[in-house]
Amino acid sequence: MNHQDVVVIGAGQAGLAVGYFLRRTGLSFTILDGESGPGGAWRHAWESLRLFSPAQWSSLPGWQMPASGAEYPPATHVVDYLRCYEERYQLPVERPVEVMAVTSAPGGLVVHTNAGDWKAGAVVSATGTWRAPVIPDYPGLASFKGVQMHSAQYGTPEALRGRRVLVVGGGNSAAQILAEVSLIAETAWAVQELPQFLSDDVDGRVLFQRATERWNALQSGRPVETRPAGLASIVMVPPVREARSRGVYHHPRFIHHFNEDGVVWTDNSQIPIDAIIWCTGFEPALSHLDSLGVVQSNGHVNVNGTRARDEGRLWLVGYGEWTGFASATLIGVMRSARDTAREVGEFLKA
Ligand code: FAD
Repeated sequence: MNHQDVVVIGAGQAGLAVGYFLRRTGLSFTILDGESGPGGAWRHAWESLRLFSPAQWSSLPGWQMPASGAEYPPATHVVDYLRCYEERYQLPVERPVEVMAVTSAPGGLVVHTNAGDWKAGAVVSATGTWRAPVIPDYPGLASFKGVQMHSAQYGTPEALRGRRVLVVGGGNSAAQILAEVSLIAETAWAVQELPQFLSDDVDGRVLFQRATERWNALQSGRPVETRPAGLASIVMVPPVREARSRGVYHHPRFIHHFNEDGVVWTDNSQIPIDAIIWCTGFEPALSHLDSLGVVQSNGHVNVNGTRARDEGRLWLVGYGEWTGFASATLIGVMRSARDTAREVGEFLKA
């Protein structure tokens, strides 16, 4: 049995940010990660995926992301940055280590993995969402004979050349994948609600500023301006702007059902399709916490800030708004990582 004051599960951007702040507490800690190398989910991003904000607006605490030469850095640049970040702060990452379960024990929590067990006074779960892609159910989908993939499995458009491809989803993934698939295949676009395109001069940094203003207003009880622009709105990165000029986004449709050859729209018209790419998001990858009985039916954990309400030795970081404003972004995770490390330190020292 390994013993640590703190075990962090996940060495993506969130786990590394927590590690950065834990270093200052003097507590012993380790970061367990199931991947064979650094970078978290960014290792699995499709080839052309770009950040929706410039490098200096995509930095973890302590060290600004170096410029990449492109206004919006590619995912490979983020993987490099996270690799260097681990080395720069000598963060104690053990990989590949797969966490199967976390259980309660006298004096702490036990983290059960495929490389043995760790006993810790506190556990921070930072396992992200990439491992839990969401594909909505539609009538007739089981009979569809064509190819299906989620954006989490999408790599390059090559295999789709000349095919009839339906892209489902109204966020940045759908917009960026449609932009490149539409260059070599016939595409159709389906959404669940009308998408929000941001103006060309607005990118992730403006989104983050607006979201920060709203967060500050909420914290100080001032009236919150209801602006449409959330972090799910479509940022007009160059490939998306070019696709817009080709009319790729001009006619998002609503799905009624599928049949074996294609999709039937809500106006009862239908089109044949060969492939579906589901850009329908993710949910938190929390199956390792099922053993603690803290995961709710909505897939979240009840938290105060980032601390689990029903298990005071557990914290959750990086899962999006329910674990802290903009916490699922590189620039946004700092606040909740810092607060978590401070709380864990106070808890264990008390
Ligand atoms: P991850 O990066 O998923 O890291 C979690 C780590 O935990 C992984 O290494 C995983 O292998 C490991 N893990 C999970 N479960 C276990 C287990 N049971 N045992 C051991 N290890 C485990 N954010 C931005 O800031 N800017 C952007 O421009 C941006 N663009 C995005 C575009 C897309 C298409 C998507 C999907 C997301 C984007 N994001 C962006 C959000 C951000 O990339 C992700 O939310 C980010 O990867 C979250 O980091 P994380 O550390 O929380 O999780």
